[in-house]
Amino acid sequence: MLIDLHPLLSQTGKVNKLETELEMDKFQSRSGTYAIVTKKPMILEFTNIGDGKVEIKADIDIELDIPCGRCLELVRTQLKIETLREVNLSGTVSEEEAALDETDFIEGTDFDVTKFAYGEILVNLPMKVLCSDSCKGICNRCGTNLNHGSCGCDTTELDPRMAKALEVFKSFKEV
Ligand SMILES: [Zn+2]
Ligand SMILES: [Zn+2]
Repeated sequence: MLIDLHPLLSQTGKVNKLETELEMDKFQSRSGTYAIVTKKPMILEFTNIGDGKVEIKADIDIELDIPCGRCLELVRTQLKIETLREVNLSGTVSEEEAALDETDFIEGTDFDVTKFAYGEILVNLPMKVLCSDSCKGICNRCGTNLNHGSCGCDTTELDPRMAKALEVFKSFKEV
């Protein structure tokens, strides 16, 4: 969805506040695709702060299902984002500003709600999600989720190369 910010530019101090649905059911990133299971309407507030600049205040409140970093079971993760951004719509952006420009959500005077929300969710996404701090993960032999019981795999057996290295180490010690 696009919101035209042009009418806002007519007067410094002008405010445009609105609520809008987040048009996203899943979130795709390089680390995976996560289902957005609940979402509250996004609250947006645009303020003309003069010189063609607009301050954007946004509230995003969603819940995503993200796999646990150890056992891969889905963990419902709430993301509550309150953000404040400033964009320059005057068209006279310095080269320096242009180089630092991360405002791909602005095109002309149009504000792209989905692109904006995507960027905000991306930077606020937790690096690692665990179902619990004591998650035992999965067996690296059979894939059993070790939180649900043990699988009986012998995980004490050493990798053959490892065993050899250990032997060398031992004989070295005996000398
Ligand atoms: Zn886990
Ligand atoms: Zn196993």
